[in-house]
Amino acid sequence: MADNSQPAEQYDEIWKQRHTAAHVLAQAVVEMFPTAKLAIGPPIEDGFYYDFDLPRTLTPEDLVEVASRMKRIKRDNFPLVRSEKPREEAIAWEEERGQPFKAELIHDLPEGETISFYTQGPFTDLCRGPHVESTGKIGVFKLASVAGAYWRGDEKRDQLQRIYGYLFDTQEEMDAHLARLEEAKRRDHKVLGKQLGLFANNGTIGPGLPLWLPKGATIRRVLERHIVDVELASGYSHVYTPQMAKVDLYKISGHWEHYQDGMFPVMKIENEEFVLRPMNCPHHIMIYQNDPHSYRDLPVRLAELGTMYRYEKSGQLSGLSRVRAMTLNDAHIFCREDQVVEEVKGCILMVEAAYRKLGITDYTYRLSLHDPNDKEKYVDNPELWERAEGELRDVFKDLGLPYYEAAGEAAFYGPKIDIQLRNMLGKEETVSTVQVDRHLPKQFGLDYTGEDGHKHQPVMIHRGIISTMERMVAFLIEHYAGVFPTWLAPVQAVVLPIVDRHKEYGQSVVDKLKAKGFRVELDARNEKVGKKVAESEVQKIPYMLVVGDRDAAAGTVSVRLHGGTDLGAIPLDDFIARLVEETA
Ligand code: ATP
Ligand code: ZN
Ligand code: ZN
Repeated sequence: MADNSQPAEQYDEIWKQRHTAAHVLAQAVVEMFPTAKLAIGPPIEDGFYYDFDLPRTLTPEDLVEVASRMKRIKRDNFPLVRSEKPREEAIAWEEERGQPFKAELIHDLPEGETISFYTQGPFTDLCRGPHVESTGKIGVFKLASVAGAYWRGDEKRDQLQRIYGYLFDTQEEMDAHLARLEEAKRRDHKVLGKQLGLFANNGTIGPGLPLWLPKGATIRRVLERHIVDVELASGYSHVYTPQMAKVDLYKISGHWEHYQDGMFPVMKIENEEFVLRPMNCPHHIMIYQNDPHSYRDLPVRLAELGTMYRYEKSGQLSGLSRVRAMTLNDAHIFCREDQVVEEVKGCILMVEAAYRKLGITDYTYRLSLHDPNDKEKYVDNPELWERAEGELRDVFKDLGLPYYEAAGEAAFYGPKIDIQLRNMLGKEETVSTVQVDRHLPKQFGLDYTGEDGHKHQPVMIHRGIISTMERMVAFLIEHYAGVFPTWLAPVQAVVLPIVDRHKEYGQSVVDKLKAKGFRVELDARNEKVGKKVAESEVQKIPYMLVVGDRDAAAGTVSVRLHGGTDLGAIPLDDFIARLVEETA
């Protein structure tokens, strides 16, 4: 299996083990199915996989047998021995032994190249290496699943079966990994979203276009209000702009040239062409241009909960975390050159404050740089890149925050600071971003009048603090496993009358709490209170207020926390004081 994806110095020991394990997997499969055709089998994060064309669909029992054969091959401890063949000979050899995919892979290598093979016992595979010395040196592995795959990822070509496996150095690491997967399953926002009635996908509406159900909408509204309040207090102006515009706007901005793959197709209306916007930036630029500006007005900070549409491939869509219609906590700051570093710092501090409020602690700063060799993706202007990238490094230096750099992750017009959160599987997700841009101001000919009376070009900073409402809520559902802090919980308290005659008092408790602005429900069903408590537990409501005769007489509520802690009878006013303090 020819893997050319990494330079040799990046092959570390665990990588070699995972890579070698893929060969061991192939050997086991060929033993069971001598006519198996081998495609590719690379190491991946956490393990390895291999794609096969097999005479029949694999069953779970097959996987058990493959795994036990792999264990035997590991015990046999075959050394991996390298050999070489000239290209043409190698192609003929693969064709002769019934391995057309391998022949095709070699065919695509440059002419005159020497082709290498590795042999372990009776089994030989096309490969560049490197591997561990022998099959006995691979770590603890476990076959995970079988999935469908296409040869070369092309749905018009052969359908293959992909066997995935995990591999770690030690049993402890494997156990920790499996426990993490279990935990991620328990927290899966798609499952919890359904169970808690937060959002739904609907086949008639279409993929990637989720519906926010009342409870999910409540969480979103609380988040939106919070961030808008923070922005208004931090000198931002909030605006509304339309979700579509003429194609011309995106031709000027460059999105048409650089971002068309991510956009939905054009709509022709009365001889004009429109598109759904994939970003809000050009719209905010139009607002900036609506008035003349002087150096004294800057920075102009325009914010919007901007709804936008992106064409994401159906296979990439996932619950709320990757969708096609989304609303971004977006803003664009138009400022002078001498204000850039301060403004970026302000954005970073806003991110830090938002994360504190949301209880997010596991995140890292990534400085996303351009790739000078990728002239297609990136605007070609080396000086601009150097300057903008340097500025962002300064921001980190000034704030004393740790960060790492990643080439090829910049936006087409400029470098970004991406704040990477770690999701339940330990995978990084981009949530917040801050980007410095001198390209769009130039494209649109933006200006302001300087102190010297001349026209100057402002710098534009794009920033999203809490990302799209979709991705943030998906993240928070998993982060809290559905047990939201009281300020975010869609229902903050449920009042549970013990029997019918307590309903009236229960209703008065609800009314009083609602009057204070809390989200409260009355569970007036004629069910046993134990059953109501159990159901409220499943709904993960922070407070259950049981009310009976004594409560009605004394003006108290018997408070039970989600998870089972019993606080006993508390005067209603004291409970309200507690809620006020907790949600402040
Ligand atoms: P990604 O790399 O995730 O595709 P991007 O770099 O294209 O994102 P930006 O243009 O910077 O993203 O968009 C701002 C933010 O919007 C991202 O940081 C991300 O959190 C969020 N976002 C982007 N695409 C989606 C999507 N399809 N669904 C939900 N949220 C999204
Ligand atoms: Zn190999
Ligand atoms: Zn923007």
